[in-house]
Amino acid sequence: MNMVDITAAQAAYRDELVEAGLLIPTGVDGLYGRSGVFEDVVERFDALVTRWGGQDGAEVMRFPPALNRQYFEESEYLKSFPHLAGTIHSFGGDEKAHRTLLRRLEEGQDWTEDQVATDVVMTPAACYPVYPTIARRGPLPGEGKLIDVFSYCFRHEPSIDPARMQLFRMREYIRIGTPDQVVEFRELWLERGREMMGTLDVPLDVDVANDPFFGRAGAMLSNSQREQKLKFELLIPITSTEKPTACLSFNYHQDHFGHLWDIHTADGGVAHTACVGFGMERVALALFRHHGFDTAQWPASVRKVLWG
Ligand code: ATP
Ligand code: ZN
Ligand code: MG
Repeated sequence: MNMVDITAAQAAYRDELVEAGLLIPTGVDGLYGRSGVFEDVVERFDALVTRWGGQDGAEVMRFPPALNRQYFEESEYLKSFPHLAGTIHSFGGDEKAHRTLLRRLEEGQDWTEDQVATDVVMTPAACYPVYPTIARRGPLPGEGKLIDVFSYCFRHEPSIDPARMQLFRMREYIRIGTPDQVVEFRELWLERGREMMGTLDVPLDVDVANDPFFGRAGAMLSNSQREQKLKFELLIPITSTEKPTACLSFNYHQDHFGHLWDIHTADGGVAHTACVGFGMERVALALFRHHGFDTAQWPASVRKVLWG
């Protein structure tokens, strides 16, 4: 399938989802409301993740979908993904500037001149608030840490692909500890993720992957991430069989975040980190793709896994 066909297939599937009422369009690519049926699937899948991962004793943390701007700056996200970041700005002018704003708005001109950066930035990945939070607590306990997060995430990547949203939800488990502890966690979830998704009766494949680092220096980072097998994805065909969609990802950051935020293990080493992320909307879309839009008609085995 060439790019034109892939794009056409994405547009067609988006239309079908909108037609069926599962996605509610807002007039912006990648920004959707969802129906009760869609949300029920998301909630059931979230509960399934807890059934598979909840026994490991993770500390649950829930953050709003925005980050302290200082944490965001320290994360070096702007070095790697300036094109995806969403910063929150607000009007910072006086009354004269306000009159100008209203006039420009009226005239259909750019009114954003007096918008100034606030202290918050949209969360790009659910795990970002966790590292500085853990760093503030001091050295890790001997067994390290395991954290459970769930958040809306923003990425400026408007697309007609219904599986590529600008605001979507990510559930994650994050392991922070010694290299051995962290590598063991990722191995565990690579197996467990495959097994768990297998119970949902969808075609899947696990493959090595890379992040879309910005610019020419970014291409080198992507290559080295791939060579070192730092990122894996669990892929399920949604709008294309040849280009299946990443629904889960398994990321090993080595000591990158440990260094950035000075997270130390009990024995004084720099902490390593890894996370497994579940793309909630993508998993729901994959289920609708393979089992149909009517959840009552889904295979009995899948219904049992999700609804008990
Ligand atoms: P892709 O390669 O498709 O862009 P990604 O590598 O950027 O995905 P991660 O950064 O690893 O994805 O994010 C974790 C999970 O969040 C992904 O496995 C996916 O399920 C989900 N996800 C990522 N980007 C989007 C998006 N734009 N819309 C919906 N879900 C997304
Ligand atoms: Zn993460
Ligand atoms: Mg991406």
